[in-house]
Amino acid sequence: MKSLKKVSIFGVTGSIGQSTADLILSDFERFDVCVVSAARSVDKLAEMAISLKAEIAVIADHSLLPRLEELLVNHDIKAMGGEQGLLDAASVPVDITVAAIVGMAGLKPLMVSIENSKAVAIANKEPLVSAGALVLKAAKEAGCKILPVDSEHNAIFQVFDPENKQHIKQIVLTASGGPFREWSREKMSVATVEQAMAHPNWSMGAKISVDSASMMNKALEIIEAYYLFEIEADKINVIIHPQSVAHSMVEYADGSYLAQMGASDMRTPIAYALAWPDRMQTCGERLDITALSKLEFHAPDCERFPALSRAYEVLEKGSWACIALNAANEVAVEAFLKKKIGFLDIMKVIDFVLESCDAKEIDSLEAVILYDEACRDIASNYIQAGLKSKVG
Ligand code: NDP
Ligand code: MG
Repeated sequence: MKSLKKVSIFGVTGSIGQSTADLILSDFERFDVCVVSAARSVDKLAEMAISLKAEIAVIADHSLLPRLEELLVNHDIKAMGGEQGLLDAASVPVDITVAAIVGMAGLKPLMVSIENSKAVAIANKEPLVSAGALVLKAAKEAGCKILPVDSEHNAIFQVFDPENKQHIKQIVLTASGGPFREWSREKMSVATVEQAMAHPNWSMGAKISVDSASMMNKALEIIEAYYLFEIEADKINVIIHPQSVAHSMVEYADGSYLAQMGASDMRTPIAYALAWPDRMQTCGERLDITALSKLEFHAPDCERFPALSRAYEVLEKGSWACIALNAANEVAVEAFLKKKIGFLDIMKVIDFVLESCDAKEIDSLEAVILYDEACRDIASNYIQAGLKSKVG
């Protein structure tokens, strides 16, 4: 008889959160849900908390706590609200926390979860980009296992042999190329939000969909891999693979390439992390290997997608530049989604922030948060000024 795994899911109402909930409901005997959280989707949060039989539901927007309490009135589920509510809920000990909040908003709950969970299945890539060294250090000190959920990193995790790290020649992150894979810069300059959100292979949240269109998602993933696998930046490469079947690979010194393959369904990597070190049956799509006629791989075009080069440049500069890149991107993507700036302006905002902010040693969580906020201010002011301020 297997013991129940106690799970908390931060960002349960999002794309990753819902896929996690699907998996848990499909194998309910195996899990015991502790915390579920959302930002503002209060009705959906209550509904999911009830179906998952959670112990605690947290709504980050404190003004929605009365509504959450009302929705949960006849259920034995504790309602909590605000940032403090998120942090208090993250401090409840569990076997595994699924970190699926989007953006740097997930950083503080993630750090508290690391202290209180035996393992953290991390989808929330932005805190890894901006505070990767601190996150990994905290996890080592707390004895918390970090399990990558991002499909590429999950694939690498499955084929990465830490005992033979010195024989790893390169990590190859595969990229579908997104909806604009074959678009000219001219065409991208007038791309609409709807076009940017129409990913050919994956169904995801709004922010990561736009990141995939600009290939900033792959840039963030290069930095994510750098911290997760503690490997030199020049050993991390990107290859375009439009079919999204091989989710990434590792090349070893003897010439062997080990890849993980599967359908383009996040339920596979999430299931791997949820069940680790065991495996579980998934309710997701399965890859029909006999239906595959071809797998293509080709080099990315860094001229049309400058985000890729920026990843290596910021890693070379230091963690301050990674924070600046991520903060500027979050602000710019939000402005694009609100139709305040054009698609190619996202990169313009990032480059402006990278040129404007000062190189600085960042060695604490507080310093990361302050630097991130300063970069967001630069980005917001630049957008407000119609992208016209001078670099100064
Ligand atoms: P979604 O936008 O679909 O969901 C985000 C979740 O976070 C929602 O539950 C949302 O609540 C919550 N949230 C948003 N803002 C805040 C906040 N300020 N405080 C607390 N909670 C908040 O995102 P995805 O599921 O697509 O992505 C989640 C993370 O996983 C991202 O970092 C993304 O890069 C990464 N990822 C996603 C993949 C995917 O396939 N979707 C693949 C690989 C990585 P509410 O519903 O109330 O807004
Ligand atoms: Mg990915």
